[in-house]
Amino acid sequence: MKERFAGFQPVRRDRLVQETRHDTYQAKHKLPEPTVCPQCGAVFHDGRWQWLVRPAIAHEETCPACRRIHDEFPAGYVTVNGPFFEDHREELLQLARNEEARAKAEHPLKRIMRIEDRDDGIQITTTDIHLARGIGEALHHAYQGELEYHYNERENLLRVVWER
Ligand SMILES: [Zn+2]
Repeated sequence: MKERFAGFQPVRRDRLVQETRHDTYQAKHKLPEPTVCPQCGAVFHDGRWQWLVRPAIAHEETCPACRRIHDEFPAGYVTVNGPFFEDHREELLQLARNEEARAKAEHPLKRIMRIEDRDDGIQITTTDIHLARGIGEALHHAYQGELEYHYNERENLLRVVWER
């Protein structure tokens, strides 16, 4: 695997770091609990963002996912292309959306930001690197093809490339 994206290094799929380390979109200070995101309604409770009933009294602060969406600064990029994709476009997009729905139900910070048309396919951007990875794995599991990861360690960004 050669370097295809500036600042990103190819990384073996089984070597990708599991835990998010220094995400610039994590709050710099300790959030009071409970905190509610005024954009999406997620609640910060027990040290993580969750979908909970809004507490009667809560601190308000925008969650990292809504801040990324506002800033148009994705954490994950999934590039999907190739002739098989062209022929099964809707099916593959539905798979990606299902993967998002599954992840987001559990983790409010895992969201698709945008699905953009590219010359040779599409690019899906995500608020979280693990969702990008999950979409890549779901595509690979369902349709095989070629799957590559390129990781930018400094900024904790992940590019996933799937081709078939
Ligand atoms: Zn939010």
